[in-house]
Amino acid sequence: MSRPRHQVKELEALLTEAEGKGWRVDKKAAYYRMRCPCGKHMTWVHLTPSNPRYEQEKRQKLQGTGCW
Ligand SMILES: [Zn+2]
Repeated sequence: MSRPRHQVKELEALLTEAEGKGWRVDKKAAYYRMRCPCGKHMTWVHLTPSNPRYEQEKRQKLQGTGCW
């Protein structure tokens, strides 16, 4: 995997878990893009989120897609 690591440990773990579930993760300029296996769901992971609940809320949204 040539993707550069996310500098936030919890978010890197989230991206790695996504890849394990068949999601595709690309590094863009200001965020990581996550695309699900079915092709209907996409989300972004910021590089430096200011919200301390960001990772938790992102997980809840991902679980809501049905593709997590
Ligand atoms: Zn999907």
